[in-house]
Amino acid sequence: MNKKELLESLKDVYEVNIETRPKDPSKSTDGGDYYFNAVYRRVSRFIFEVNYSTSASFNFCNIYGGFQDCENCSEYHEEYEGAVGKFCQADPEKVSLAKLAYLVEQAGQDENKVVLMG
Ligand SMILES: [Zn+2]
Repeated sequence: MNKKELLESLKDVYEVNIETRPKDPSKSTDGGDYYFNAVYRRVSRFIFEVNYSTSASFNFCNIYGGFQDCENCSEYHEEYEGAVGKFCQADPEKVSLAKLAYLVEQAGQDENKVVLMG
């Protein structure tokens, strides 16, 4: 897929997942070879918000995408829009359509990454 085709295919998508899959799934909980997912959700024509997740069983921030304990963060709250649970309320990272196209292109060249569009 060339750049033009890629931008065309991203034109109407609502969500793009860029997954990083572990080589050895038996190590994906605490063995050092983790699954990661970055979900890019469209918030306007040219802007996507990112939410990260992992299979690792350690404290992980879904907003910043790093291993950290959000409970010690000032942006952490017990409630979020009436939902039960604890949530990091830091502002999600915003990514432009052009940047997302670049990330999808890069992921396509990485054998451990899988891109899903929907
Ligand atoms: Zn956080």
